[in-house]
Amino acid sequence: DLRRRLHLRRHDEFGELAATFDQMLARLEAAFKRQTQFTADASHELRTPLTIIDLELNRALTQLSTPEEYRQVLEQLQAENEQMTTIVNSLLLLARADTGQITLQLEELDLSDLTLASVERLLPLAQQSQVSLATGELPELLVNGDPHYLSRMLMNLIENAIKYTSGVGTHVRVELSCKDEHWGVVRVQDDGPGIDDEHLPFLFDRFYRVDKARTRSTHRLADGSEVKEEPGGTGLGLAIVQWIVHAHNGEIIVESETGKGSVFEVRLPLLNQEQEATPKNDRSM
Ligand code: ADP
Repeated sequence: DLRRRLHLRRHDEFGELAATFDQMLARLEAAFKRQTQFTADASHELRTPLTIIDLELNRALTQLSTPEEYRQVLEQLQAENEQMTTIVNSLLLLARADTGQITLQLEELDLSDLTLASVERLLPLAQQSQVSLATGELPELLVNGDPHYLSRMLMNLIENAIKYTSGVGTHVRVELSCKDEHWGVVRVQDDGPGIDDEHLPFLFDRFYRVDKARTRSTHRLADGSEVKEEPGGTGLGLAIVQWIVHAHNGEIIVESETGKGSVFEVRLPLLNQEQEATPKNDRSM
């Protein structure tokens, strides 16, 4: 009987071990697949501006002669260079984040100050895009955060809302509130095109764009050939936003309805004011 029981136990343990091993393999495989996809996407995104630069340079060398023609090509090259720089900088940031090489410079911050500053910086873009950009009440919400990264998070979300909403009579609204006394909540709300349910699970993936065809513009070259080009966007903005939120122990959720608009809501843990107000020396009491 003992022998049988021992045999059964060993059988169970083997089964468990095999299952764990299977799970580990599946996770490794998924990670490897993601990595391969990521490399393919990154190469693709960089190849487009490189192709345009190559074609434009050839055109300048073989067909152009007037200063005005050269100036136009140089401007195009500058724009492509900027696009590549943005992509490479975003990729570097994500790579450093992945490998734990970024140390946040944490300090006591008021979310309302950061929000107001971001909104003010984006007012010209909103005006140019004919979007009315406004804030609700901005209560004081103290968090322990890195001002550089939290500003970047706010800028990315508000800029997206403006970029995808643009048009006369459209609105972007930024609101701050407190939830359950522990969470500072930032809501960036727009009445733009909204995002279909099927896309929501992938929105924060690197290089994911909802409708590539719609957000791309065609670059027509002098020889009649065409290159599809993204208008400034990299598909990395929300991946960076998500990293920043998680690095601050926060959460981000998105609610959206096609044709009605989107809301991106970030929750960040509020500073425990009682603890902070008590100087360390006095704590022993
Ligand atoms: P991008 O550089 O393309 O803006 P993001 O990572 O910031 O990249 O956003 C990913 C995709 O999510 C965008 O390409 C867009 O399709 C969609 N998106 C983001 N914000 C909004 C919004 N406020 N309204 C509609 N679609 C949005």
